[in-house]
Amino acid sequence: MPFIYPFDHAHPVAPKELKALLGGKGANLAEMTSVLGLPVPPGFTISTDACRAYLGNGWPDGLDEELDRHVGALEDRMGRRLGDPSDPLLVSVRSGAQFSMPGMMDTVLNLGLNDSSVEGLTRQTNDERFAYDSYRRFIAMYARIVLGLDPEPFERLLVEAKQRVGTENDGELPPSELRRLAGAYLELVGELAGSPFPQHPRDQLRGAIEAVFRSWNGERAHAYREREGIPDDLGTAVNVQAMVFGNRDDRSGTGVGFTRDPATGEQGAYGDFLVNAQGEDVVAGIRITEPLSALQDQFPEVFAELMDVFARLERHFRDMCDVEFTIEQGKLWLLQTRVGKRTGVAALRMAVQMTKDPAIALTKEEAVARITPDHLDQVLHPRFAAEVVDVLTRGLGASPGAAVGRVYLDAASAVEAHAAGEPVILVRKETSPEDVRGMLAAEGILTTRGGLVSHAAVVARGWGKPAVVGADAIVIEEGGFRVGGRQVGVGDWISIDGTSGVVVAGRMPLAESAPPEEFEIVLGWADEIAFGKVGVRANADTADDAERARRFGAKGIGLCRTEHMFLQPDRLPIVRRMILAESPEEEASALEELFEAQRRDFRGILEVMSGLPVTVRLLDPPLHEFLPDVTALERAEAAGGLDDEGERLLAAARAWHEQNPMLGIRGVRLGVVKPGLYGMQVRALLAAAEDVARAGGEPIVEVMIPLTVSREELALARQWFDEARAASDARFEVRFGTMIETPRAALIADELAREADFFSFGTNDLTQMTFGFSRDDVEAKLMPAYLASELLAANPFKTVDPRGVMRLVRQAVEAGRRERPGLKVGVCGEHGGDPASIAQFVEAGLDYVSASPFRVPIARLAVAQSLM
Ligand code: ADP
Ligand code: MG
Ligand code: MG
Repeated sequence: MPFIYPFDHAHPVAPKELKALLGGKGANLAEMTSVLGLPVPPGFTISTDACRAYLGNGWPDGLDEELDRHVGALEDRMGRRLGDPSDPLLVSVRSGAQFSMPGMMDTVLNLGLNDSSVEGLTRQTNDERFAYDSYRRFIAMYARIVLGLDPEPFERLLVEAKQRVGTENDGELPPSELRRLAGAYLELVGELAGSPFPQHPRDQLRGAIEAVFRSWNGERAHAYREREGIPDDLGTAVNVQAMVFGNRDDRSGTGVGFTRDPATGEQGAYGDFLVNAQGEDVVAGIRITEPLSALQDQFPEVFAELMDVFARLERHFRDMCDVEFTIEQGKLWLLQTRVGKRTGVAALRMAVQMTKDPAIALTKEEAVARITPDHLDQVLHPRFAAEVVDVLTRGLGASPGAAVGRVYLDAASAVEAHAAGEPVILVRKETSPEDVRGMLAAEGILTTRGGLVSHAAVVARGWGKPAVVGADAIVIEEGGFRVGGRQVGVGDWISIDGTSGVVVAGRMPLAESAPPEEFEIVLGWADEIAFGKVGVRANADTADDAERARRFGAKGIGLCRTEHMFLQPDRLPIVRRMILAESPEEEASALEELFEAQRRDFRGILEVMSGLPVTVRLLDPPLHEFLPDVTALERAEAAGGLDDEGERLLAAARAWHEQNPMLGIRGVRLGVVKPGLYGMQVRALLAAAEDVARAGGEPIVEVMIPLTVSREELALARQWFDEARAASDARFEVRFGTMIETPRAALIADELAREADFFSFGTNDLTQMTFGFSRDDVEAKLMPAYLASELLAANPFKTVDPRGVMRLVRQAVEAGRRERPGLKVGVCGEHGGDPASIAQFVEAGLDYVSASPFRVPIARLAVAQSLM
């Protein structure tokens, strides 16, 4: 296998399918060149194979020869030679991994310039300003990216040069000043690097390629991959491409565009461009850009051509694309395209639009496949809940959603404040990849420069973090910022709205958001795909929860925990009376009071969920959770302050104290030691169901026994259930089942199935007990160490363990259904809302997953995607 492929290489398949080999950028450059015939500056791609080889064992054997050959071919084709003192070829060296990592990797432009070729460029273009502008850009970029030097002193020299000339605009620096600047840069490199700037183009090229390879392992790249779940061993490709010059003159320019609005999904081209500038100027958000519509006035033909290219790209990729382009003296060049990142709203709108667009004709399945859990999260983001009265300033709403936090001005202090539990708004002039960790830590991002495709905007949108960019009235200073005569200090509260671009002083209240109508459409399609196969229910303990769950599309409640009802302040004294009871009569009277309270609670839930199943789990937590803390009582006793009631509580708290309560008297074991308890709960539930049925509702009740480990336990519980049932004149569906949340229960699932109409996997406890990992303790300290040392591939409390826990699940499902064909099986742990876990549950043949109400839309999507 060769290491290098020219953009017009005849691949056996469409190059866009070769992203693993060529990287996303290289694959699509080849696609545009050889399949679409678009104007792309010629070049070649050094494959990810070469990068992996380099990162493993250093510069690969044979790469030099291939490089010589392909550089030679490129030189022949362009009729110019790298470093030629009379008419030099210049190239860019661009990174491009399989998955797009915006701004993560480094790109070197204008490579091939040196002290003599810059003179050649001057003569050929007859433009000394241009030649030296290119040279000084190259030196600074090379110094920063390849030699790893601090960019600050280079920028200072540029600022000083502009001050000397009396301009704020790079483009107005005269040739003499640029020549001087290039000289000063070269000197600075010598000083800072300790060796002279490499003048030979082959050394420059080799250095740049190695720098791109190395950037794969840079800290920024790692942080981004961690966040996005991109594997660390893929490596990046490197693209070497003939330069075209947007900084040539006023008939030149550079820009980025989207074939549709990536923020709203609206149809129509959208983007930014800059006259007389080179690519990085737009992306870095350093200069204020013009909207794409301005291109129409200034370059009407180029604009028309670009619109045609946009249409072709959309048809070809059957999706919204983003494009980087450069205009050199009136000629359009395409430098990059890819399927563009988009907000949640835009993703939903475009998916629905594209099913109707005959040129694209997306199927419903394809539309569903294009939505990610992140997209749904974004449309579920909060908004301001009150009228904004105190507008500090306005910027561009770059990433929707509202955020409230305290002002921090740099990534390091943002990370620190976040770690200390503070919500953070990261405020910066502009962001660069160095800021990624700070951006991750922030609730929202505010920049004073840059446009909607600036780094801050693109990264924030990709992550669904609220961001306001280009709020240019803000002046950042030491210790805070100034805006319109007002002062905001580091640590002060502000609120931002990434939809409208408004920045507010102080803390705004936040409210849930309203997803666009396409949200329901797409999730409706997801439900169609899942219909009759796998359902999504919600974990909901109250009528309010149930209401929300239904609104989010839950097809029932998979877990209604009854302990929350017991913990309410008006119930707690009754619960305690039951625990403290010294005679059967006392206990019975406490239970009777609880019966009435529970009946009301259940009635509310069953009314809301009329027509859909409600799985009620009988009381689960250890009883001491309902008693006061032993030490607190002992302290009060020592201080002589306990009355009779206090003494009795203390005695009870001591009596019920357990060394290891999670493995103690909880779940069905409670029912055994307090025999009236479960019977009371079942009676209350059936009575509530009767109430609802009598009022015309349609209750569907499922009674679920927690923490079962044996058939005998379940048979005993079933007896209480049967008794309560016989006493009620129930004319509604009732089922009896058990949780499977101990390894033993999973192992004897066939025996349990004899007593149960359904199983529900409690994967939180099942994970805890299968690993022997305390779910309350290991995640803080142990898990990071385990993940860092790769002892575990993922946190098993986030994504269900595919090898151990899932083996138990699969065996239990199979054994249960062997014993009782058609046994209904679901899952109600936190994993029910995790897409990677859902895929495993669907694979294992579960009938439903149950997730918290806010996760229900994501679970509906994930179920459909797992079935496709
Ligand atoms: P990124 O992945 O950060 O977008 P790119 O490799 O796309 O990095 O390069 C950044 C910018 O550099 C591009 O948008 C483009 O404007 C400019 N650029 C790259 N290669 C060339 C080239 N051959 N000619 C002109 N400009 C280029
Ligand atoms: Mg880059
Ligand atoms: Mg790019």
